[in-house]
Amino acid sequence: MRYLLLICLSFFSLFSNAQKKEHSNLVKTSTSKQTTAIKPKLVIGIVVDQMRWDYVNRFKPFFKTAGGFQRFINEGATVDNTLIPYLPTVTACGHACVYTGSVPALHGIAGNEWYDNVKQKKVYCVDDANVQTVGSSNNSAGQMSPLNVWTTTLGDEFKLASNFKSKVIGISLKDRGAIIPAGHSANGAFWYDSKSGNFISSTYYGKTLPTWVSNYNNLHRPDSLYNLDWNLSLAASVYEANCDKDENTYESTPFGKEAKHFPYALKSFIGKDYGKISTTPYGNSLVEELAKQAISNEAMGADDITDLLAVSFSSPDYIGHSFGPDSWETMDGYIKLDEVLADFFTYLDKQVGKDNYTVFLTADHAVANIPAFNSKHQIPGGLSNETAMKNDIGNMLSTKGLTANLISFIGEGNIYFNHPLMDSLHVNQEKLVDLVSSLLERKPEVLQIVEARHAATAAIPASLRERIVNGYNAQRSGDLVIINKSGYVDGFATGTSHGTLYNYDAHIPLLFFGNGIKKGAVHRETYMTDIAPTITALMGIQMPSGSIGKPITEVLQ
Ligand SMILES: [Zn+2]
Repeated sequence: MRYLLLICLSFFSLFSNAQKKEHSNLVKTSTSKQTTAIKPKLVIGIVVDQMRWDYVNRFKPFFKTAGGFQRFINEGATVDNTLIPYLPTVTACGHACVYTGSVPALHGIAGNEWYDNVKQKKVYCVDDANVQTVGSSNNSAGQMSPLNVWTTTLGDEFKLASNFKSKVIGISLKDRGAIIPAGHSANGAFWYDSKSGNFISSTYYGKTLPTWVSNYNNLHRPDSLYNLDWNLSLAASVYEANCDKDENTYESTPFGKEAKHFPYALKSFIGKDYGKISTTPYGNSLVEELAKQAISNEAMGADDITDLLAVSFSSPDYIGHSFGPDSWETMDGYIKLDEVLADFFTYLDKQVGKDNYTVFLTADHAVANIPAFNSKHQIPGGLSNETAMKNDIGNMLSTKGLTANLISFIGEGNIYFNHPLMDSLHVNQEKLVDLVSSLLERKPEVLQIVEARHAATAAIPASLRERIVNGYNAQRSGDLVIINKSGYVDGFATGTSHGTLYNYDAHIPLLFFGNGIKKGAVHRETYMTDIAPTITALMGIQMPSGSIGKPITEVLQ
């Protein structure tokens, strides 16, 4: 009997401790009877692929009063001078930096793709030959995982701090936009397969798609969205007054050679061409719709163990590459993204509770103007071409009695030497550096060629030098870094790109609102590496292992 009583008592104390734990996370707000969690129940990370910082101000007059961006401006914190502290400013490195607080030197994601100096082959950032596609017969689209990320992510730290009870999910059109932010110990990452029009995953996360993902795929939303065509949200005169012309020879034609201006008919893609939706604002709708499914079906934000949903909107990048930052397409894309965000936050208010979640919004990189647009307005810049550079170097090496094969790869501003061949031909590094640098530094587009491993002593402004050092990864970066002059874009006669250390590529938006966020504006210089430690400071948990950033304490209550 005594034993029974003891057992009963210990059960009771366990139960009341559990209750205490639940209640310790709650505090009564003074103005209402509603209880507000001390910590957010759900953190939503939003990356807008290719969003320039200046868009927040440029498009503000066209955003809705009850729109998504206004939520940050009215209720949250805006951080105005956030810079990317490394090279190259591309998608994979950006998503890795936001979620690790770290740089390519430490987290290992040296580019969207790189030449592996150890394995002597080209590698895509999320390649993983040991896993298989889940959710599509497209075998190559799903052989992906976060294997190449060397440090922990925000999601990993959420997991470690909660005895792996936090739910962590990544969603994006792009594989790398979902996988890298979700991190190593994620419950799932889902990305869009342009062949099937389905969201897919890999066996890294599980053998089958969750039912809610299959159910969503079965709705065939890309077809219904194609049926709506792409029409402008506002009167044409508004775009005319605020953008370049609608039709320009320097814009790409992703919807077919004849489709050069608004409105864009999309109905002909129904049932077949599922890749086209990426270059329309409807790509954002797909991602938002699946994000809502994740929240309700996985009960994210339903208890006091904080979950993390990493959402990356890739369509602004596809639209931006094709039409440039000054186009009608880009402006209309952001007007429609504002509506998608508004719908998403309204959903979160209802589903998770207005005071129970925290959102941050940033970009993985920004973008350059289209070079021909710049020339039209006498702004410096032009085209640069890495393939042509590789050919020129090869020809030069041949005339010196050497071989073009001494260069293994050029990409994302990196020139990789073929070290095994250098050894067998007894070509020393210094000589090759001199030959290649003196050839390229005569080109009108080149500012300077920097030897990566000696970047710390390069004769360029210190803040820029630091970005080269931060971007240098001995196993995965090239031997030389090409620093072009301002306004030069590696690409072709139509469209534009990004990847440089100039402000048009490296200055990104950073916005917060929700639980634990203090309303206000921060104007001092901050970095992309500060985002992850700001969120871990808000949560009171350890920052990711390789984080070199500092919490932006001004935004925290
Ligand atoms: Zn891009």
